[in-house]
Amino acid sequence: MNYNSTRNKQKVVTAAQAIAQGISDEGGLFVPQSLPKYTMEEIKAMSGMDYRGRAKKIFADFLTDFTQEEINESVDAAYTAEKFGSENPAPVSYIENGSTKMSVLELWHGPTCAFKDMALQILPHLLTKSMKKTYSGKEAVILVATSGDTGKAALEGFKDVDGTKIMVFYPVNGVSPMQKRQMATQKGENVSVVAIEGNFDDAQTGVKKIFTNAEIKGKLSENNMLFSSANSINWGRLLPQVVYYFSAYCDMLKEGKLQPGDEINVVVPTGNFGNILASFYAMNMGLPIRKFICASNSNNVLTDFIRTGTYDKKRTFYTTISPSMDILVSSNLERLLYHLTDGDDQKVASWMEQLSASGEYTVDAAVKEKLTSCFYGGFCDDENTQKTIRDMYLNENYLCDTHTAVAINVYQQYVAETGDNTTAVIASTASPYKFAKSVLEAVSNGTLPEDEFSMVDALSATTKTPVPAPLASLKDAEVRFTQTCKVDEMPGAVLGGLSIG
Ligand SMILES: *Cc1c(COP(=O)(O)O)cnc(C)c1O
Repeated sequence: MNYNSTRNKQKVVTAAQAIAQGISDEGGLFVPQSLPKYTMEEIKAMSGMDYRGRAKKIFADFLTDFTQEEINESVDAAYTAEKFGSENPAPVSYIENGSTKMSVLELWHGPTCAFKDMALQILPHLLTKSMKKTYSGKEAVILVATSGDTGKAALEGFKDVDGTKIMVFYPVNGVSPMQKRQMATQKGENVSVVAIEGNFDDAQTGVKKIFTNAEIKGKLSENNMLFSSANSINWGRLLPQVVYYFSAYCDMLKEGKLQPGDEINVVVPTGNFGNILASFYAMNMGLPIRKFICASNSNNVLTDFIRTGTYDKKRTFYTTISPSMDILVSSNLERLLYHLTDGDDQKVASWMEQLSASGEYTVDAAVKEKLTSCFYGGFCDDENTQKTIRDMYLNENYLCDTHTAVAINVYQQYVAETGDNTTAVIASTASPYKFAKSVLEAVSNGTLPEDEFSMVDALSATTKTPVPAPLASLKDAEVRFTQTCKVDEMPGAVLGGLSIG
């Protein structure tokens, strides 16, 4: 199977090229030229496999330039019980007491307690194998600018993976104390973490400049190294997400929650549109999904887009209690547009040009029609997010994080509006302990403790739920990284960190 660029169909690359390169030269994203299709018989057969077995089958159909052995190695290294707490890295929990029944697909049992682990645990293995095929074994140097979650998940994924080095830059005052500690205590011989004096945009711009700095690239080349990217538009991050939608359906068949062929609705708390797009691919591969419910926080650019067909990023940016969804340009939407226009690369390129030139674009009637027939968009502000956490805890005895609460709230709006009671699978994207302050505020009445570690303990005491092991061990972990630099010192920090200055 080969891949095209969303902005130039003439560009055709292999899976390994798509993953090693990350993004196409003209700025387009790589999309599969066709999709494997599974019958309900095949899906039933998959429910007899474990998560890794399901992953191996689906990966093999997309990564046709990989050997089955390479795929097996990658999957077996990524989804271990040691890393995800059990043999099933993405289990489904059922909420069945209240008026709205929900199946919650818990994607946060990995080493950093957020769903990005599902992709970032396997990406390093796919990437090193892709580099071998395309750049004859050069060492991959991953640079990441992070506002918190992605940096830690990337560090955990790339830690001690042969043939890779990873450097993460974060804004010194722009991440939570918990996130800072998660990164500063990172283990691994091939990792480094640097705080920068600036905000997230400064970090991001600094990293982009280094990526294209000819002198630095030359130094890397002399040392048999090459820059590479782990960000969420990489096909190697999207593909692993397709697997867990099939896996959830299979588990629900096995557990008698669904009969073969039953439809489901999928509800996804959305930021960069990667997670929900993966469910769209799953539907086009044969998974019977009726509706995609796209949940946003107050940064509701996608809600408006789905309802009106106009994408308009010229609006106030809100900092919310679901920070991983604080985003105004959802990059992966470009892939959906490509598929909804049946691969009209010129149209997609022109909409993306309009977005960067004037901050908005409007899709044509045909695309708008397809969009509204399968997607529902809704949003939920901070106050209602906390109310939802509280209600779910008190009425259903289910403790959820702020992002998941946004999804649940929007799902409830959807049911109230449409009366559609199709079995709903809610993507739960983070452990409640990762956002302990907002969750504790929602479920307790007293005053909050001072620091974030005490809040974690208080949340556990109040709700009688265990603190996830990776967060519990942080308090006593050794701090390894304390370097802070100015934005213009970032190139030096990279060369120094790689010992090739
Ligand atoms: C990244 C993230 C999201 C958004 O996912 P997208 O694939 O970018 O839409 C939602 N919740 C959490 C906790 C995240 O870390």
